[in-house]
Amino acid sequence: MAKTIIISNRLPVQLQIGKGTINAIPSVGGLATGMKSVHKGGESLWIGWSGLTDEDIHISLAPKIDEALAKHGCTAVNLSEQEVEGFYYGFSNRTIWPLFHYFMEYAEFELDFWETYKSVNQKFADAIIAQSDDDDIIWVHDYQLMLVPQMVKEKKPNASIGFFLHIPFPSYEIFRTLPWREEVLKGLLGADLIGFHTYDYERHFLSSVRRLLGLEVSFNEIYLQNRVIKVDSFPMGIDYNKFSNAAKKKMANAQRSDLQEKLDSHKASAPGTKLVLSIDRLDYSKGIAKRINAFEYFLNKYPEYQEKIRLIILAVPSRSNVPQYQLLKREIDELVGRINGELATVNWTPIWYFYRSLPFDSLIDLYTSCDIAWLTPLRDGMNLVAKEYIATRTKGTGVLILSEMAGSAYEMNEALLINPNNFEEQADTLKQAITMPEEEQANRIEILQKRLSRYNVEVWANSFMETLIQQKEESPARV
Ligand code: UDP
Repeated sequence: MAKTIIISNRLPVQLQIGKGTINAIPSVGGLATGMKSVHKGGESLWIGWSGLTDEDIHISLAPKIDEALAKHGCTAVNLSEQEVEGFYYGFSNRTIWPLFHYFMEYAEFELDFWETYKSVNQKFADAIIAQSDDDDIIWVHDYQLMLVPQMVKEKKPNASIGFFLHIPFPSYEIFRTLPWREEVLKGLLGADLIGFHTYDYERHFLSSVRRLLGLEVSFNEIYLQNRVIKVDSFPMGIDYNKFSNAAKKKMANAQRSDLQEKLDSHKASAPGTKLVLSIDRLDYSKGIAKRINAFEYFLNKYPEYQEKIRLIILAVPSRSNVPQYQLLKREIDELVGRINGELATVNWTPIWYFYRSLPFDSLIDLYTSCDIAWLTPLRDGMNLVAKEYIATRTKGTGVLILSEMAGSAYEMNEALLINPNNFEEQADTLKQAITMPEEEQANRIEILQKRLSRYNVEVWANSFMETLIQQKEESPARV
């Protein structure tokens, strides 16, 4: 019987190494949850990097690690520090990430990075080839593994291969600047189905295929020798019930957490004050610095809201050994310090800034306590935080202000959509959010909640898999 193989850069488990013991703890992220229905015991295998480098693992531990991972249907691809440096921090995060998020000036075109990316992709492909049978279904995830589909297709022409890109695919004019553009496209075209979050990313990809490879493209199909490759959009959802139920539980529980107490006391100290929330990884694509500047602009344009509004910024540490991220951290620290220093009063600090990640429970406290979520990515493949905020607003109040540059904006028309570069518009939209009648809030939220609960992450994973299986049945005879 055909089995399913999932491949992503990181495995959906975290290894905890104690004295002579090794535990694999399942991750709680969106992808791991969404794939639950696809990654079922016995019938599927997940291949990825464990997060530990060869240098971290004593040789005597290797069999125990394999055993711990096998219990979760996982197999590790082992990487050295040097491989992680060139493949992950290098080509993935210093070339592809900035380029695909339209930060051309940050993209580094280093031959060494590219060579390591190729060889590590081959390692992942070899692991799949060693573990797969001819008619298996293989789902490759994300920008770290764009060469894997072709590497596998070469050796397993009858396998059904799907690829999903979790970040934007940029316009042809941006993509064409990549020195290895043809190789990347050909790598992806080893897949039978290529999925994106939005129709725009799909369109950009098809345009690059047509213009750089000269291939025949008809609607959403690409013709390559004796194969038909299907391209489609599958906007990723969230585990809606998990967020909605956690929020309901909070509401029903009379006991307040410390964080809730703090947020409540802020509101009690000045009736009518609003809490505005933003949550992002500390990444230049998220527009955090611009948002802080726009907040200052708002406070100057509408001074009547000084002491009546607070911006809570949760910035989750990310890729902190990449220089651009270190610079950004410094910029944000300084901005927050300057604005708080200039505007704070004895009763009021305009910005509360947390540089850390918070446990799920605290995230729910923030989502449920804040009147407005203000998310301003300059470019974002999807942005799940926007969807999570809406799912937790079980009382039907709350306003989402969302950048139109986020993939999720395509499905969230009832949010207040803004251009993150337009401070005038952002200041006015913030005012609109503060003064929005509760009835209007409820109308908007209800429509959003209906849509998000229907197209949740499980539906996303299943519809990708169904399309992939269908593509196998419909595609012409193979070698
Ligand atoms: N998140 C988290 N811990 C935190 C803050 C955020 O686990 O302290 C989660 C959040 O719930 C969301 C994810 O991180 O599911 C961020 O996803 P998103 O698509 O918004 O952005 P990404 O980081 O993938 O670019």
